[in-house]
Amino acid sequence: MLTLIYRYKTKLYVNLTNRCPTACVFCIKSKWKMVYRGSDLDLGGAEPDAGAFTGLIKEAWLQEPFDELVFCGYGEPTMRLEALIETARAVKTGGLRPVPDDLRIRLNTNGLGSLINGRDIVPELKGLIDSAHVSLNTTDPVQWLALMRPGPEYARKGFESALAFVREAARVLPETVVTAIDGIGADLEKIKALAGELGAEIRIRPGLD
Ligand code: SF4
Repeated sequence: MLTLIYRYKTKLYVNLTNRCPTACVFCIKSKWKMVYRGSDLDLGGAEPDAGAFTGLIKEAWLQEPFDELVFCGYGEPTMRLEALIETARAVKTGGLRPVPDDLRIRLNTNGLGSLINGRDIVPELKGLIDSAHVSLNTTDPVQWLALMRPGPEYARKGFESALAFVREAARVLPETVVTAIDGIGADLEKIKALAGELGAEIRIRPGLD
């Protein structure tokens, strides 16, 4: 059976897609054979409708409540923006009760959602996403290319687009966090400063291995 949702600690994660506009050097999906902490996140190319996700989210809540819903799988959630919005909206409009409509919803992203979808997507996330965690990892556009390894269509505008996403999200959403991985060569002090300039918080995290 496909793992559309999975638990880790006190949170429920939504695995919308395996598609990614980047092939980050720090990604562990190949090394871990698409398994994350015991959950096989390989969707085999399947991308079920939002209804499949919302039904499972409600079921999971009834089994055991969670304190946050996180869009994060082995894939970039904004590749499926419509399903993401529909799923988040179902929660926030009370359509999945007893899942509370004030449940915190987080998006983990590489920040390329606007470039992927050809428009600024942040206004569409307003009122649905409480927290955006953007994996930026560097302040240097050349290093960004080396670390994130975007597909050709995302290479030229990717870094600038990710910065714009952070800036806009920090203005519009309740919480925006720039994330960076320690030990992959980036200047963490500069990233902290950049996050501040963009109006975002910063989280430095260890890499997985
Ligand atoms: S965006 Fe996430 S899933 Fe995609 S390559 Fe990067 S780390 Fe891996």
